[in-house]
Parts: sequence; structure tokens; C-alpha cells
Amino acid sequence: MPITFVPVPDISVYVHVPFCRSRCSYCDFYFEVGAGSSLIARALDRILDEAAWFAERLEGPRIRTIYVGGGTPSLIPAPELGRFLEALRHALGLSASVHEWTIEANPESVSDEFLAAAAAAGVDRLSLGIQTFQNELLRRLGRRANADAIGTALEAIATGWQGRLTVDLMTGIPGQTRQALDDDLARLRNARPGHVSLYSLTVEQGTPLSLAIDRGRVAPLPQDEQDRLWVDARDRLLSSGYRWYEVSNFALPGEESVHNPVYWRSEPYVGLGPGAVGTVPVRTVPVHGSAVNAGRVVPARLTNPDLAAYLAGSASETTREVEYLDDRTLLFEHFMLGLRTAQGVTMDRLAAVFGLDACAVEWLLRRCGALGERVDREALEMGRIALDDEGRVRVNGILVALAEVLDDLELSGPARWPAGDGWH
Ligand code: SF4
Repeated sequence: MPITFVPVPDISVYVHVPFCRSRCSYCDFYFEVGAGSSLIARALDRILDEAAWFAERLEGPRIRTIYVGGGTPSLIPAPELGRFLEALRHALGLSASVHEWTIEANPESVSDEFLAAAAAAGVDRLSLGIQTFQNELLRRLGRRANADAIGTALEAIATGWQGRLTVDLMTGIPGQTRQALDDDLARLRNARPGHVSLYSLTVEQGTPLSLAIDRGRVAPLPQDEQDRLWVDARDRLLSSGYRWYEVSNFALPGEESVHNPVYWRSEPYVGLGPGAVGTVPVRTVPVHGSAVNAGRVVPARLTNPDLAAYLAGSASETTREVEYLDDRTLLFEHFMLGLRTAQGVTMDRLAAVFGLDACAVEWLLRRCGALGERVDREALEMGRIALDDEGRVRVNGILVALAEVLDDLELSGPARWPAGDGWH
């Protein structure tokens, strides 16, 4: 389908590097295992073509943030990685004022050379996938790094990395005990990263871990124990000075992510690379059976194909899947992402974009008891719909209840994306 892009003044970029050395047992992201260096090089070249193509179509927007994730970007050898990041900078027309440039790394592939190549290109934030320091649990998760490798990576970062650091930590791993989690948090305290993403393990259908559980080879922790471990870890982070600014994200003051809130506030971003997803403003064309009127500017979700199809096409070819987001989908996504944050959803934004006034919000809070009971009253008085601490722990259940109520909500007209937020 031809896409008519609408130029934007600024935008964020996500780059998906879909290669891993092996498969973690719980992972359901899109990635390929066993790719050789020439295949990786071809994919990186294609990503650069795609970056230049988007920069031209969107008329050279200022790039606010970049996030290079995967997969495992750190498995690219340092010289090639350095060349790729420099070329990406050039293709995107990156100015010095990019707010944040993050790259993901796994501990076993962090080296002095990797850190130097990333820093030289302008990357200023490192996201390290630790999950746990316990060897037995790391094996159960299928992670390649053991505790020694994680320690070595943290040492290299402490001595050779000037930028910011965020780490992923996991709770609810089968076999995890309170003592093991205490040990993880103590080791984390020594490393003192500015930012921590704390996830409770989700067992996704079709992953090796879910099959092992189904066959009785691995016993999952009871749900209440999983919840307890996560809440324990949250409380320990809070008492160590971290702020809980999103359901799974904690930061020391001033260390909050700049890139992730772009998703949470439903702002535009480009997705580059095989399997990448982005949301950009487009002018609609007639689509049979679509609820979206032709000629309007709407957010469109663009999804890239897998590696084989991605390499077979060219940047300009429309092999991407295009989905125009209708107003109801947008509204639900706005709540789904916004309610996960401490900031919540602002009444101003609901009024400006969706035409929802204070009466409609009141109706919503009355009709959706799960939301009404857990809404933070102080925030509400200040014009924000945000959940209290208990509500944020139970956000998924609240969203299920909210989805049913939103179906009955009268929208006064099509969504109007206000000027100045990147959609015009
Ligand atoms: S390294 Fe990351 S992307 Fe790769 S399999 Fe493990 S969790 Fe998934």
C-alpha cells in the first residue's frame, strides 16, 4: 500500500538488530540465531538505506532519541559496530542535540572495544540485560552469561563507560527465592546503575520455558509468590533512592529514560530493521472496510517483515504492513501506556485529542469501578488520571475492565492531534 507521510519536526528512532547467539528460554521477541557476519553486514546495510529513506520522506526531522535494541546489538564486532553507528548518524542527519542514544548489550559481549565504539559514535546510554546474578537461574533462563561474566561486564563499564547505565532485572523466575533476590539486589547496589527495569517473568506461549512447564520439567512459582518477590524488589529499589516512574521502570533522580516515554505518550517514532515496528503520521487513502476516513492525518503503525523478506526488498518498497489506527484503538492505547506511568494520562490531552471533557472522565471513573477505586485522587485534582501504588501493581486487570467500558464511550468526533506534539 502506498504511504503518504506527513513531515514531522522531530521524531524518535528504534533500530532492531535481530541477531542472537542463542535463544533464551523465555524470549518471544523476533530474532535469528546463527547468522554469519556477511548476513549481519547485509542487514545493517539495509537498515542504513531504510534510515536514509525515512529521513527523506519525513523531510529531515530532528532526531530526538535513538534506541538500538534487539536481539543483541553488542554481538556485532566493535569495528563493524562503530562503522554502522557512524553511518546511521549520517543517514539520519543526526545533530549534536539528540537527547538520548541507547544501545542494548548482553554481559558476555561487553568489551572495552565495544564500549569505546559506542561512545565514539555518540551513544550515551547503555542498557545491560542482567536478569539475575544466580548461575542456576541464569541457566534456567537460557542466558549465555554467568555471574562471573556479568561481574566482568560491570567492571568494564565502571572503568570504561562515561555514559548512563540501565539494567534489566527479573523476578518470578522458577526456583527463585527471596534470598537469591536479596543477593541480586545487593550486587546491583554495588554497581549503582542510574536506572533499573524490573520485570516479573511472563511465560509466553510457545517458548521453550512454557513447553518445559507444560511437560512438568520446570515448576513455576505460585502467582502470589511471584507478586511478593516483585513487590519486595520494588520496595528495596524505592528505599535505595530510585523513583518508580513507570510500572517496570525505576530511576535515580534525573536518570529517567527519555526514549521510552515517547511510546508511553503515544508520540511518533520510526522503526528500522527486520521485524521493527514504528508509528508515524500519514495521510490516509481509502481502504475498504476501514473505520478511518480518507484524507485525514492519522497515526499509522508500520511493521517490517522478517529478515528474509526485509533483505529481499528495498527501502522504498512497501513490504511493510500498514495499519491506520482508529480513534478507539488510539484511545485505549493512550490509557494502556499512560496508566502504567506515575504521570498518568492528562485531562488536557484527553480533551485536546479525543474531545473528552471532565464529564466524560467522571462517567468513565464511575462506570469502570476497577479504575475509579485505584485512581490517585490528588493527581486527579491536578488534572491527571494516574493510578495509586496498588493500582499500578494491578494495572493489567484494570485495563481489561477499562477496555469494556471504553467500547460504550461516545467520542464526540475524530481524534485531533494537536500541533506541536510531532503529529503535524
Ligand atoms: S538475548 Fe535478548 S533477544 Fe536474544 S534471545 Fe535472549 S532475551 Fe531474546
